[in-house]
Amino acid sequence: EEEYEEIAPLLKRIQFQQEQLKRDQKEIEKASLIRQEFSANVSHELKTPLHAISGYAELVENGMVKKEDIQPFAGKIREVTKRMLKLVEDIIELTKLDNGGAEMKWEECDMYFIAKNAIDSLEVEAASSGVDVTLKGSKAPIRAISQLLYSIVYNLCENGIKYNHSGGKVEVDVQQSAVGIILRVKDTGIGIPPESMERIFERFYRVDKSRSKEVGGTGLGLSIVKHSVSIHGGNIEVKSKIGEGTEFIVKLPNESE
Ligand code: ADP
Repeated sequence: EEEYEEIAPLLKRIQFQQEQLKRDQKEIEKASLIRQEFSANVSHELKTPLHAISGYAELVENGMVKKEDIQPFAGKIREVTKRMLKLVEDIIELTKLDNGGAEMKWEECDMYFIAKNAIDSLEVEAASSGVDVTLKGSKAPIRAISQLLYSIVYNLCENGIKYNHSGGKVEVDVQQSAVGIILRVKDTGIGIPPESMERIFERFYRVDKSRSKEVGGTGLGLSIVKHSVSIHGGNIEVKSKIGEGTEFIVKLPNESE
């Protein structure tokens, strides 16, 4: 009887540990599946543009392209190469994020300043799409990984431009709250269908694959955003109406306060 009293808590602990192990095992299996799927997707996404480039080169090599068509052909090759480059850059960024941003530096940042930089670097893209990007708010200090904050604003804004109409708007708003920082990116674009709302943060998921490709998308932007937000312990919300527009709301806690 007395012995049992000693053993019971021990058994309970072992049982608990076994359950924990099972849960860990499941998590590992899930992660491994996601990685396998990711590798398969990466190979596919890289092969497509490589085939295109190789095809163009072959036509030129075999003299199948008229002299005056060679220049537009080179343009196509450059376009496809640019897309591949963006894809490789996004994959590298995601891989770094998969390591939890371990090598990245936390520092005192200003979200407003970072948002301004990101918007400035999208100026040409915005102008050529006929989309007006505005920034509201004021100084918003936060202890964070600055390159990831930049990625968050850049990707959300770029999507607001890409999935918009000429004459449309993107409004960026940076506010400081008692607990941290709130970033809103609101566009007057095409909107996201309700059935896709849950999937847009998945790697390589696109609502409209051909539109995404046309505007130079990789299908990785929002996964980079979500990952970056979660490394900062924050959360992201999305509201959207087809034909009216989309709003992303990012909340980042400020631990330095
Ligand atoms: P992509 O490189 O294709 O833009 P993302 O991961 O950034 O990839 O976004 C995934 C998909 O979500 C996009 O292909 C697009 O269909 C949809 N999406 C993202 N942002 C918006 C937006 N602001 N308005 C409408 N659709 C959007």
